[in-house]
Amino acid sequence: MLLSIPTLLLVAIFILGLMGLLTLHAWSRGARDQTLGHLGSMLLLAALGVALVSMRAMAPAFVALVLSNIVLLLSAAMNWTAMRVFAGRAPHLPGIFAGALFWLLWSFIPGFYDDLGVRVTVYSLLATGYGALSAFELWRNRQHLEAAYLPALLLTLSHTGFYAVRTVTDHGVSLEQAMTGNDTAFFAFMLFESMLYAIGIAYVTLAMVRERTELKLKAAAYSDPLTGIGNRRAFLSRGEALLAGCARRGQPVALLLCDLDHFKRLNDIHGHQTGDQALIAFSQVARQSIRQEDVLGRIGGEEFACLLASTDAQAAAQVAQRICAGFYGLPLLAPGQLSVSIGIVDSATGGHDLSRLLSLADHALYAAKDQGRNRVQLYTPPSPPGPASPAATAPRARVD
Ligand code: GH3
Ligand code: MG
Ligand code: MG
Repeated sequence: MLLSIPTLLLVAIFILGLMGLLTLHAWSRGARDQTLGHLGSMLLLAALGVALVSMRAMAPAFVALVLSNIVLLLSAAMNWTAMRVFAGRAPHLPGIFAGALFWLLWSFIPGFYDDLGVRVTVYSLLATGYGALSAFELWRNRQHLEAAYLPALLLTLSHTGFYAVRTVTDHGVSLEQAMTGNDTAFFAFMLFESMLYAIGIAYVTLAMVRERTELKLKAAAYSDPLTGIGNRRAFLSRGEALLAGCARRGQPVALLLCDLDHFKRLNDIHGHQTGDQALIAFSQVARQSIRQEDVLGRIGGEEFACLLASTDAQAAAQVAQRICAGFYGLPLLAPGQLSVSIGIVDSATGGHDLSRLLSLADHALYAAKDQGRNRVQLYTPPSPPGPASPAATAPRARVD
């Protein structure tokens, strides 16, 4: 197959330029993640670098040999910076300009313009260095990337590997030689490699940035901004999952429905800010009283719910008592000003159905309020109507 190097150069310039502009467009439209800004500038610099390279025949030696490689090295540095910024680190300015500066200073040393082999080796070494740094940024921060980083890592490693191999194998194929039909294959391969890498890294980085943005949006949609615990949506979705798991394993589940007492009064007397602090403090007390596998959520203004896995009503009552006592004893306000009422139901009574459990726990909670607040109330089903059954009119037992 006959490959025309001038055509390939033109295609490379347009592809790199287009990918750069599209990446900058995605950056301006998206969550303004700086990663895409750096990646876009890397691609545009690469397009400019290849354009300068293709002017070799007509441009002065400084432009052809010095400026073009400086721009390409800056492009490699921006690739490293994009990965570094994605990993949560700040751009490293000395590192960004080190490669370009080295090339510029070296161009003043006599002999620079005569030795193509050394120039190729040094350029490939610098490109390998920036590639290795890019891969290293992804690898060392892989635990915190919150995105599928492997495609980007493998792509970067293969691109770096190409330049590492070129360091030892390519002893200088000039563009002029390739243009005149000698060693066309290697030059063509190099241009193909750079185009494929540019398209691949732009695509996978965009996917990584999008994945992480979606994760953040989902976390925000599921969390209560005041207390930091799950909101109603999170509670319902995680609660359904917990109930389904426990139902499958035949394990009991208990639900605590907590409502802070006289909270309107507390706001009126001490101010809304103190009310907010009480809500935060309650969520901390509740979180410390349950286990990792349990589900806690703020399901209303001053209402919280806890689903306790593998727990029956009696064990749940102990947890609820701990929460009640813990909140009551908080030094935030004078003793007696903070209290909570808690209604409890377990799956032996309500089944593994979340809306039914919530409704029954609400009954128990109202009973707790009726009976004076600051207490725990276990839901008990109403007794069947009998001739003289007092239990039929007093269906809820108190556990405090
Ligand atoms: P009860 O003991 O019967 O539960 O009385 P209550 O005053 O706690 O109940 P009520 O439903 O009358 O009032 C709830 C109050 O909770 C009213 C509302 O202003 C307050 N509230 C809801 N969300 C927030 C919040 O985010 N911050 C603060 N500070 N107050 C809130
Ligand atoms: Mg309420
Ligand atoms: Mg209340």
